[in-house]
Amino acid sequence: MRKIKRLEDTMVKYTQLINVPSKECNEPLIKIVNIPNGYLPEMQDMKRVTGNDILVRKDVYNRLLKAQRTLLKINQNYSLYVVYGYRSLKIQILRFLKRLAIVNQKYYANPVDLYESVHRSVAVPSVAGHPTGGAVDLYIIDNRTGKQIDFGSPIYDYSTLKYYVFSGEITNKQKGDRMILRKVMMGAGFAPFDGEWWHFSYGDREWAFYYKKPCAIYNQITYPFSISQKLAPSLSQGRRRSSGSVGLY
Ligand SMILES: [Zn+2]
Repeated sequence: MRKIKRLEDTMVKYTQLINVPSKECNEPLIKIVNIPNGYLPEMQDMKRVTGNDILVRKDVYNRLLKAQRTLLKINQNYSLYVVYGYRSLKIQILRFLKRLAIVNQKYYANPVDLYESVHRSVAVPSVAGHPTGGAVDLYIIDNRTGKQIDFGSPIYDYSTLKYYVFSGEITNKQKGDRMILRKVMMGAGFAPFDGEWWHFSYGDREWAFYYKKPCAIYNQITYPFSISQKLAPSLSQGRRRSSGSVGLY
């Protein structure tokens, strides 16, 4: 347990993100085309909004291309495969509430601890990166087979803690491949999230916090056209609710 706590202590926390300022740069969302991509069967929720297209901010796309080029230099049989980018705020809130509902809330002494716990797998909507178009979920495939290489835990598998980047329960080869993904993404300017080996972001609050930037450059955005300043209700609103469960509404 102590080892797991040590791993969790190094992850960027919800409470570290709430005070990171954000200044929207008005970059458009664009569709990923020249990098293999596609929504996974278990992650179809954005299809209602964007069809089969996975969208990211323009500079995020350029940086993904850079990461892909670096990856090919490291191993010509490897390719990035993007499975998720922009997520509407509404879907982020639904996902967060779903996760909140299955966590044993009685275990947590206060709402902040509860939110921190849920945040490690589903970001608190008010600070989440996917609704900015700056965050991506991705893995590496072997070009010869088209299949995902083995990272030690399937993407989005929260049944064990092997999805923590620095899990001690995976092989050296799996660790090595996680580090290759991390190296090419960080080399292209993305911030990693140590709580999920597949999640990286650029321009959002997590990126700003990780690299000690003065502010995030992407606010949460409403697809297709308008940039939204309106964020999900904050923790303080949740705490104002009287007794019992923590509510977002
Ligand atoms: Zn993600």
